[in-house]
Amino acid sequence: MKMTSDVVVIGGGLVGCATAYYLSKENKSVTLVERGQINRQASGQNAGSLHFQLEHRLILHWQELENELKELIPLSKDSEKMWANVEDELDAKLDVVQHGGFMIAETDEEVELLKKKYELEKKYGLDTELMTRDEVREIAPYITQSFKMASFCPMEGHANPRHVIPQFAKRATENGASILTETSVTSLTQYGDLWEVGLNHEDTIITDNVVIASGAWAQEVGYMAGLHIPIFPVPLLMNITERVKPTIHHLIQHIGRRISMKQVEDGNILIGGGWPTQFQQTNGKVDFDRSPKILNHFVKENVKIAAHLVPEVQNFRLLRSWPGVTGVTADQLPLIGEFPERKGLFIAGGGSGFTYGPLYGKILTDLIVHGKTDYSIDAFSPKKFSHLNMFML
Ligand SMILES: Cc1cc2nc3c(=O)[nH]c(=O)nc-3n(C[C@H](O)[C@H](O)[C@H](O)COP(=O)(O)OP(=O)(O)OC[C@H]3O[C@@H](n4cnc5c(N)ncnc54)[C@H](O)[C@@H]3O)c2cc1C
Repeated sequence: MKMTSDVVVIGGGLVGCATAYYLSKENKSVTLVERGQINRQASGQNAGSLHFQLEHRLILHWQELENELKELIPLSKDSEKMWANVEDELDAKLDVVQHGGFMIAETDEEVELLKKKYELEKKYGLDTELMTRDEVREIAPYITQSFKMASFCPMEGHANPRHVIPQFAKRATENGASILTETSVTSLTQYGDLWEVGLNHEDTIITDNVVIASGAWAQEVGYMAGLHIPIFPVPLLMNITERVKPTIHHLIQHIGRRISMKQVEDGNILIGGGWPTQFQQTNGKVDFDRSPKILNHFVKENVKIAAHLVPEVQNFRLLRSWPGVTGVTADQLPLIGEFPERKGLFIAGGGSGFTYGPLYGKILTDLIVHGKTDYSIDAFSPKKFSHLNMFML
């Protein structure tokens, strides 16, 4: 069967579903193609943190990254607002909590980094403040005494990925978008201004625009269009405790250690922060489609840091750990825009993809519907990586 659609979105995670929603709101006909079920990969497995403070690596390399920071912070500021409005926008309860987030510093070196971070955030307009240990403990007495300083970002928090993504998908469908699940995109062929999107059932869709929202599998989809896309699959770990009494009221991160921690609506404490799991092999080859293996020593390390920062956590039982595969760009920044080599082919991915997911969808919609966006996103454009595609088709 040959179908037509103004836009084909490849992938049913947050980026794909948010893009389908915003496009459908603009009366574009949209077909979202998902090879499994909606929200089964990174978007449904993540920590749900809404983190806007600059990370360690960006601060360390701030001199080389000034252009990027200049463009990243406005994305963070507008994402703060989008998350504050998303329950109204989608008319649903999505467990969005923005009570603020701390980033802890324990050593003198970490304090220096925290101060540098604050300076940069202030320069580009992100609302954060530095707090002494006593100031922190006044509003968060559950945090350990053994740290020197923390920064606080009042709009940080979390949301429930199990509610957010299906709701974007539901509203997109109500606006007329088609969602094809258990359907893989297997080829992308460009004919002049049009694209033919091949599906595994031998059906095809003819479209003006294709959006690659396939997360950690973006490279695979890129090859269908004859392009290298520098998004790399990274297997991560999440842990959750049993339900406990209200204990943690903020998002907790650390400037020098891998941790993100919060207590969710149901009372469980979610512990993550970038610890790895391990890709498995099939027939002697790394298999990115198999669920990665959990390594107990990383679970212990992750939970140990959590219990160090919030001592009460050591009294709670760990309920479950699970892996998830996210897509990370070569420079760990977002990748968003149209490929200069392929008119009508767009991508969004990388970065803190849950935090920025709704905004990615909005920006892609602006680019597709209006041919431009008010955001300055040159630092994240696929044209940065055009050199990789010099010898490609
Ligand atoms: C454990 C973990 C914790 C994280 N914590 C956070 C956090 O706290 N905050 C934050 O901001 N970010 C976090 N992230 C990152 C965030 O989850 C991702 O950046 C974001 O969810 C990516 O969304 P996506 O829609 O691009 O990708 P995904 O949700 O992975 O969706 C991509 C979809 O594309 C589909 N697909 C792939 N190939 C094809 C094809 N050929 N045809 C059809 N469909 C295809 C896949 O099946 C998949 O469903 C975390 C990630 C992980 C794994």
